[in-house]
Amino acid sequence: MALIVQKFGGSSVRDDERIFNVARIITETRKKGNDVVAVVSAQGDTTDDLEAAAARINPNASKREMDMLLSAGEQMSAALLAMAIESLGYPVVSLLGWQVGVKTDSNYRNARIKSISSERINAELARKNIVIVAGFQGINKYDDISTLGRGGSDTSAVALAAALRADKCQIYTDVDGVYTADPRIVKGAKKLEEITYDEMLELATLGAQVLQNRSVEMGKKYGIPIEVLSSLEDKPGTIVKEVVKVEKMLIRGVARDNDVSRLSIIGIKDTPGMAFKIFSALARKRVNVDIILQSVGRDGTKDITFTVPKSQSKDAIEVLHEMLPSLNAMNVICDDHVSKVSIVGAGMETHPGVASKMFEALYEADINIQMISTSEIKISVLIDMDDADKAVQVVHDAFIK
Ligand code: ASP
Ligand code: MG
Repeated sequence: MALIVQKFGGSSVRDDERIFNVARIITETRKKGNDVVAVVSAQGDTTDDLEAAAARINPNASKREMDMLLSAGEQMSAALLAMAIESLGYPVVSLLGWQVGVKTDSNYRNARIKSISSERINAELARKNIVIVAGFQGINKYDDISTLGRGGSDTSAVALAAALRADKCQIYTDVDGVYTADPRIVKGAKKLEEITYDEMLELATLGAQVLQNRSVEMGKKYGIPIEVLSSLEDKPGTIVKEVVKVEKMLIRGVARDNDVSRLSIIGIKDTPGMAFKIFSALARKRVNVDIILQSVGRDGTKDITFTVPKSQSKDAIEVLHEMLPSLNAMNVICDDHVSKVSIVGAGMETHPGVASKMFEALYEADINIQMISTSEIKISVLIDMDDADKAVQVVHDAFIK
């Protein structure tokens, strides 16, 4: 007999029919002799709707009250799911974050789990109950409800799997696994049997929104393999784990991220300390800088170009404008119409020619590269947003057959 943690996302429980569908998945797992702890998200768009309601009542609502509100969605879906399971004739209990001892820090809306006590859940399992846990929520040192950031139920599930030393952690969603590229955009995108935590983290930050990043970090830290699979079709999904079978595939995935702005500061005085000045000021404003490029100095001046998330470009421009005189610089240019296209694969580290193959594919499609950045397992290029879909397709074609 195994202990299995199963998580069901908002779309998997969005209406009565889907709730019964999930109830059946859970009771089938139970019927096979397993203990089941199921973590649920709020139904469908509930969390978005609650956020919208808050914005109507008070756009400046405190984060504490936001968490009080947002955590309600998961309380509803947990109870409804438990009722469905009751009606199928199985013993079940639904529990909120605080009832299962999910202790978090005090960072409302984006809290991190500090500890989970397994006592209550183990007691319920010993009573032969199926346990349903409201995801996305915990309790902080003030005994206030906290939430774990959007998509946080994934992290609730992986953290519970770690705390309970579960045999399996399954994340049920409305896609049937992790693909080599977004199958809605790229012809020939393939489902991956396995992917490493590091690759998954890169793909997640690059906009493949399958798992919350923190859940993958947590899986890596505690060595919990995470299986991503569909709640609508009964077939194997993708397993995220430390080491994967060596496949021919050098590149695990191609991702596109449209949430980027490119900023350039032109004509900076070519002396030491300028980059430090710029990026420390941006860091103080909490602007997240990604790709950075500095031109070779000419005529005593240089340019620095970098990318930031679109939502932070306004803040960044403000900071830079204030600094222009002290940098002796001429002006700041911002381009929002760019995309970052990246290839990810742990194998590329030891294989020469990966970058050139990517650039060749882009060249043959007549796509201009504005910036390039590389890491051990990733190569990213910044291009015009209009070229992004085509770029993902041709790069995918070049690497994944
Ligand atoms: N309901 C929350 C959200 O929509 C948490 C989750 O779905 O994981 O972000
Ligand atoms: Mg959700």
